Amino acid sequence: MVNCNNLVIMCMDYRFQSTTHTWLRHRGVEGKYDVISLAGSSLSMLNDTETRTIVVNQIDLARKKHSVKRIIIFHHEDCAALKDCPKDTREQLKIHHKKMSLARNVILNYFPELIVEEYFISLKGVFYPAGFKDVATV
Ligand SMILES: [Zn+2]
Repeated sequence: MVNCNNLVIMCMDYRFQSTTHTWLRHRGVEGKYDVISLAGSSLSMLNDTETRTIVVNQIDLARKKHSVKRIIIFHHEDCAALKDCPKDTREQLKIHHKKMSLARNVILNYFPELIVEEYFISLKGVFYPAGFKDVATV
């Protein structure tokens, strides 16, 4: 299998499926990504060692079978998997970017050759990449 260089890690939440896949299509990666879909996306691998093992094994399989080179992590606003989730979108963005950064570190610890991108999706369907600083516009 060639030409499937991406692996998406996303929440199972139905509210963000269409938005996320449309966004990926506009980025030109339609049909070129595997998907790991779990409640809380990469939060799940931070909160539970069993789930971490599962995710790491899935990434490893995608690397070996599909030559995946890039992991794209999506977290979203109002995610039920985030305990004590603040109401404020800006606060959620900060927390999720911090959590995705931790997940990226875990992934890179196992697979340092991979590229990891992280995006927070607001309920309005806006994608905020890691490093996004202008939270005043959220
Ligand atoms: Zn969620």
